[in-house]
Amino acid sequence: MKYNDTRGGDQKDLKDILIGGTSPTGGLYVPETIPQFSPEKIAQLKNLSYTDFAFEVLYPFMEGSIKPDDLKNILRASYGPQFESNPVAPLVHIDGQDDNRYFLELFHGPTLAFKDYALQFVGRLFSHFLKESGEKILILVATSGDTGGAAIEAFRGMDNIDIVVMHPHNGISEMQRKQMAGVIAPNVFNIALEGAFDDCQNIMKAAFKDEALNAKRKIVAVNSVNWARLMTQLVYHAWSSLHASENGERVNIVIPSGNYGNMHSAWVAKQMGFPVGELVVATNQNDALVRFFETGEIKLVKAKPSHAPSMDINIPSNFERFLHVLYVGQYGAQQGPALLKEHMEAVGKTGVLKVPQEIWQAARQHMQATRCSDAEILEHMREYHALNGNRMDPHTAAGYHALVALDLAGPTVVNATAHVGKFAEADLKATGSVGELPPRLKALQKAEERYTVLPNNYDAVRDFVGAVIEGQPQAHARLAQAATP
Ligand SMILES: *Cc1c(COP(=O)(O)O)cnc(C)c1O
Repeated sequence: MKYNDTRGGDQKDLKDILIGGTSPTGGLYVPETIPQFSPEKIAQLKNLSYTDFAFEVLYPFMEGSIKPDDLKNILRASYGPQFESNPVAPLVHIDGQDDNRYFLELFHGPTLAFKDYALQFVGRLFSHFLKESGEKILILVATSGDTGGAAIEAFRGMDNIDIVVMHPHNGISEMQRKQMAGVIAPNVFNIALEGAFDDCQNIMKAAFKDEALNAKRKIVAVNSVNWARLMTQLVYHAWSSLHASENGERVNIVIPSGNYGNMHSAWVAKQMGFPVGELVVATNQNDALVRFFETGEIKLVKAKPSHAPSMDINIPSNFERFLHVLYVGQYGAQQGPALLKEHMEAVGKTGVLKVPQEIWQAARQHMQATRCSDAEILEHMREYHALNGNRMDPHTAAGYHALVALDLAGPTVVNATAHVGKFAEADLKATGSVGELPPRLKALQKAEERYTVLPNNYDAVRDFVGAVIEGQPQAHARLAQAATP
């Protein structure tokens, strides 16, 4: 499988786009073609274990870059006992025994959010490719809360890899911070940036383009701009559509969304032939995607902090991958990416992402979007707890909102993207109490924390990263200084 650049840059192999950083055009990599699975083939997959199923779904995207047996071994290690549920991604009835509305519980991995499902695999895949090449890299992550912890958990202690994670200072939940800053490992470094998530993301992008810095050591992305993340996520979407569909009917998928990574994966699963029906993008008050489907444009506004912080994003990076497919469909493989490049570059100048009328109309054929205010998030959490004593995390609540707001026919799967224990503040506000913490989170409560507060400016972060690369013991000692929260 070869990979195309959404903005028309050179074609690449999987290995190059995995560890090769981002594209010089500013675009993202997407598979040249989407593998097609026939209904007969899909029916045969239904009885496989999660790992064997993952192999069948992923191998077509990786053919030519990895031996089948190596992939099987990496998958087995990735979905081992660090996932505390069976199956790895369970479907749980929302309303009762016989209803056809489900939560797909994606919080049974090491950091209790869906990011683990991709990163446990991607970490091992990196390690596999780096062992082959003997290269040393630095992973730089901008996180709105959950990616950072999952990435640290995936890469901690690995040879040949240092990991630096930037989170918005005071912009994430306490538990999310502890999951990152509480990991004391020689290759793990945390920055609390005095800015918002979008600032973290802009600094990260600048670092990827900084040639002097990359000459010291290659800076690599594991944010959802890395295709490997999205590819891995399509496994559980395909899995859930197959298992929620009893007689072959199509299954609607609702996804609490921020950067649009998880939704793009679901969309790819649908294109592959899995029985997916309606796709619903569920946002919080940061509703860029809702505005897009309503108007065909996204005006950049600052993200407003919400109870669902992992969705506090003003412009969803991965949306470009979806637009790429529409542009190519409308204007062809040459013209499409060139035009998309123009429109994406205009965002920097005009502050608006605006697509042609026909692209907007085409987009609306594929999915719809709902918005959930901060008050509604708390109300759904309260109501759900009052109803059955169970608790829902604030991101999942934005997805639950779509069930209330829309009249979806047929089986429906809402992605439960995190465990409520990560968001005790919201839980308390909504229900007046805090649920029992899972043991993994309990253990973290008393953890010693290490992170460095840096001003919201590129040079400060570049110097920090430079010191990590130099790796002098005194630099490490200085960097390791605890910043008391
Ligand atoms: C990351 C995250 C999201 C948003 O996912 P995207 O792929 O960025 O759209 C939603 N909920 C939780 C709990 C998350 O961690």
